[in-house]
Amino acid sequence: MGARTGAQFLQRIREHPRDLWHRGERVEDPTTHPAFARGLRSMARLYDLQWERADECLYDSPSSGEKVGLSFLIPRSAEDVQRVSRMMKIWADVHFGFMGRTPDYLNRAITYYASGADFLGEKEPAFAEHMRRYYEYLRENDLCLTHTLIHPQANRAVGPSKQADPYLAARVVKETDGGIVIRGARMLATLPAVDEIMVFPSTLLRNTEEDAPYCYAVGIPCDTPGLRFLCRETLDYGRSPFDHPLGSRFDEIDAVVIFHDVFVPWERVFIYRDVERANQAYAATGAIVGMAHQVVVKNIAKTEFFLGLASLIVDAIGIEGFQHVQEKVAEIWIYLETMKALLRAAEADAHEDAFGAFRPAWPPLDAARNLYMRWYPRIVEIIQQLSASGIIATVTEEDMKNPELIEDIRRYFQAARAEAYDRIPLFRLAWDAALSAFAGRQVQYERFYFGDPVRIAGVIFQKHDRTPYMEKVREFLKQMKEEAFAQAEEARP
Ligand SMILES: Cc1cc2nc3c(=O)[nH]c(=O)nc-3n(C[C@H](O)[C@H](O)[C@H](O)COP(=O)(O)OP(=O)(O)OC[C@H]3O[C@@H](n4cnc5c(N)ncnc54)[C@H](O)[C@@H]3O)c2cc1C
Repeated sequence: MGARTGAQFLQRIREHPRDLWHRGERVEDPTTHPAFARGLRSMARLYDLQWERADECLYDSPSSGEKVGLSFLIPRSAEDVQRVSRMMKIWADVHFGFMGRTPDYLNRAITYYASGADFLGEKEPAFAEHMRRYYEYLRENDLCLTHTLIHPQANRAVGPSKQADPYLAARVVKETDGGIVIRGARMLATLPAVDEIMVFPSTLLRNTEEDAPYCYAVGIPCDTPGLRFLCRETLDYGRSPFDHPLGSRFDEIDAVVIFHDVFVPWERVFIYRDVERANQAYAATGAIVGMAHQVVVKNIAKTEFFLGLASLIVDAIGIEGFQHVQEKVAEIWIYLETMKALLRAAEADAHEDAFGAFRPAWPPLDAARNLYMRWYPRIVEIIQQLSASGIIATVTEEDMKNPELIEDIRRYFQAARAEAYDRIPLFRLAWDAALSAFAGRQVQYERFYFGDPVRIAGVIFQKHDRTPYMEKVREFLKQMKEEAFAQAEEARP
C-alpha cells in the first residue's frame, strides 16, 4: 500500500472497531464519535499533507519501491537525519505542537528499534527478525501507533511484582507454542483510537529479576480480542471551533489500557521475560533518541506558536512599553532559540551508531527534553500573566452573531490595536492555549509524558559523564594548594 491519505487512515479505523470506552459508552466508530472525530480528522490531515508535499515527506521504500512516510527512514547520513527533521516540522506546524502522538513520534521509535534489532536478538535471534518484519509491516502499510509503557499508579513505593494484586500491572500469565497471554493494565496510551499499540518497557524505570513477567515488548493491533481502552473524558466539548480553537481540533484522548488475557503471537513479541533487555532497549537501539528528536522539533513549533501568541496579545492591548512585559516575551524567545540551538547541535553532531544508522547526538536532545518539561508550564504562565482578565472576558461565537449584542461587543471588547471581532478570537485562542481544560492537560502532558522529570534528572546525574569538568576543578584545587604551600615555604625564616 505505501503512504496513506487521510481518508485511508480514517477508513482503517472504521474497519477495525476496538473495545474503546468513553463516558460509560462503548465507542463503535471513533471517526464519527464526537469525542474522537475532530482529533482524528486533524491527524488525517497530516496523512493528506504527506502526499501534498511528497518530495519532502515521502521516500521510496527499499523493499516495495512504493512511496512511504519519511518518518520511517533509517538515516544513513547526517543529511538523512535533517531530512527527517524537516518532514517532522512540516507536520508539527499544522498542529502547533499541540498533538503529541502524531505518527512520526512512534515511527521514529520503531525505526530505530528495527535498525538496532540485533540488540533485541542477542539472546533470542528470532526477536530481532520479529522487530524487523513488524517495522516493515508498519512502514509498508503506513500504520499509526499508540504506546503504553507505565504500570498503574497504585503503590509507587514498590515495583510491579510487589503490588497487592500481582495481576494489576499487565504481565505474562501464560506461554503457549503460538505466543504469550497478557493480563493486567498499563497507563497511559495517548491516541488510543489508531491502528496498533506498542506495549513496551518504560524508557526510564528499571526492573529487577522478580519483575521478569512484566518485562516484555509486544506490538499488537488495537482491535486485538481482550484489549480494552478506558478513556478519560474528551476535551472536545463538541463546541464551535471558534470558541474552542484547540480542544475542538487537537484532543488526542488518553486511555488506560486493560488486557483481559490478550493473546500475542510470537511474531509480535520482541522482548520476553528479559530484564536486562527491557531495562536497556530504548537506549541501546537508539529508539529514545529518535523519539526525543521528534519531540524537540514539535516543541520548537509549539514555542513558535506561543511567541507569536504572546506578541499578538501584547500588541493588541498596547502593553509593549512595560519593561516586565518585554522581559516576559523575551523569555519565550530565549526558550525558542535555545530549543533551536539544541536541535541544531544534535543534528550537526549526528553520528553513525553500532548498527549503521545515523542518530542525532543525544546530550543536546536530552537537555532539550528536560528543559521543556520545566519551561512549558512557565510559557503558559506568561500567557496568563500577559492576558490577565482578557483571557477570561471573552464571549462566544453565539454572542458575536447575536444582533442584539453586536454593538455592545464592538464597543466594549475592542483593544488598542484590534477591533472587537479580531480581539475576541485572539483571546479565545489564548484561553484554550493557557487556561482551559485542554490547556491544563497540555501542561500535564509536557511535564510527564516522557517520564517523571525528577527521575529523568536522576538519570542525567548518573549517565552523563561529568569527569572532565571535575578534573578541571581538581586541577585548579591542586594549583591553589601548591601555590599556598609554596608561599608558606617562602615565608618560612
Ligand atoms: C497527559 C499524559 C499523557 C501520557 N501519555 C502516555 C502514553 O501515551 N504512553 C505511555 O506509556 N505513558 C504516557 N503517559 C504516562 C507517563 O509516562 C507518566 O506520567 C510518567 O512516566 C510518570 O509516571 P506516573 O504518571 O505513573 O507518575 P508516578 O510514578 O506515579 O509519580 C507520582 C509522583 O510520585 C513521585 N515518585 C514516584 N515514584 C518515585 C520514585 N521512585 N522516586 C522519586 N519520586 C517518585 C513522582 O516524582 C511524582 O511526583 C502520559 C502521561 C500524561 C500525564
